[in-house]
Amino acid sequence: MYQPQGMIPFLDLVTPHRELEEELMALVRDCVRNAHFIGGKIVEDFEKDFAKFSDSKFCVGLASGTDAVRFALMAAGVKEGDLVATTPHTFIATTEAISQAGARPVFVDIDEQTYNLDPKKLQAFFEQECMWDVAKRVLTHKKLNRPVTAVVPVHLYGQMADMDAILEIAGKYNLIVIEDACQAHGAKYFSKKQNCWRSAGSMGVAGAFSFYPGKNLGACGEAGAITTDNEEIAKKIRMIRDHGQAKKYYHDIEGYNGRLDTIQAGMLSIKLKHLANWNEKRRALAMEYGRLFEDVEEFKIPVEPSYSKAVYHLYVVRVKNREKLQTELAAARIGTGIHYPIPLHIQKAYAHLGYKAGDFPVTEKIAVEILSLPMFPQLTHEQQIYIAEKLMQLATVSREKEVLAEAR
Ligand SMILES: *Cc1c(COP(=O)(O)O)cnc(C)c1O
Repeated sequence: MYQPQGMIPFLDLVTPHRELEEELMALVRDCVRNAHFIGGKIVEDFEKDFAKFSDSKFCVGLASGTDAVRFALMAAGVKEGDLVATTPHTFIATTEAISQAGARPVFVDIDEQTYNLDPKKLQAFFEQECMWDVAKRVLTHKKLNRPVTAVVPVHLYGQMADMDAILEIAGKYNLIVIEDACQAHGAKYFSKKQNCWRSAGSMGVAGAFSFYPGKNLGACGEAGAITTDNEEIAKKIRMIRDHGQAKKYYHDIEGYNGRLDTIQAGMLSIKLKHLANWNEKRRALAMEYGRLFEDVEEFKIPVEPSYSKAVYHLYVVRVKNREKLQTELAAARIGTGIHYPIPLHIQKAYAHLGYKAGDFPVTEKIAVEILSLPMFPQLTHEQQIYIAEKLMQLATVSREKEVLAEAR
């Protein structure tokens, strides 16, 4: 049987960069020789290409995905003191961006199949804990006495949230929808309402993307972007990212230093040409994991609803005895991850929000079971078979022990 030489990493960032090394280094040399560091055609070209890739009219390159969520909320009109509804099962950058925009996150639990924001729970939250003023078209949280003005669905692990349902609820309550598409470059959603497939980042008022190196499209450093069909919002974000200036030294507002570096934009353009193919490879790997695990009862594999074409930023299974299994997999030279072990509402950073354990039962239940398996386009067939066999063997043994212990 195949034995891995070193570790099978959870994520291999070395191989794709070795494959593209010459092209990437030529770009860096060109930028250095011509002092192309900030803005310019290289950034504009990437923005055009990424807007096209994401089926959006505009793209604005930014310094990070966190800035992308924050600037999108600001530009779309979220104000100091507003409440923004989102999921507690996401990376903290989502809620950091909400707080940095001056707002306060309010959490709504996830769907147990997709792990994304549950539209039914969103509707129930608005009905039970908020008050809708028909005349003013303002939704106010009863206890906090603050307006809810936006929703940030997160397309977690590369699968889009149920956007038709979320957009319908948002429409009913006059809410801004900003998609956190930081894990979902190229993911698709079949909109029954529009009777067509839509891309991540093209359905809300704006979509936020991260190009952190480990994302499906990653820079060689920090980078992010927003996509939108709204020209005003694109313009505003261009100003916000560049010290609030509409032209040099004419500052209409106080902004930020949040631009996308020219060298990073150039590298992203080189990689963008491969993204559709890389995403296809991830999907094929996910299908293969699914086939290998078909009859395994010991753990639960990802569910892809018929409305979704996920791009598998992560391949997450749910297992019992996760910590033990993770240690055993590491001993078998298989790298894994946990995304994310502690729900946001019980993080120390959010103690002031007043949530407690038990508030979001689905999130809390899955947080102790989820395990991210190796997933990257260059994962080989041999490696995948090895991972699947080890995992099934370890999970089955652990379950048999459990059954034995119960019988005793
Ligand atoms: C990566 C990520 C972000 C933040 O992106 P950065 O580029 O690291 O700032 C935001 N939201 C989610 C869901 C992410 O995975």
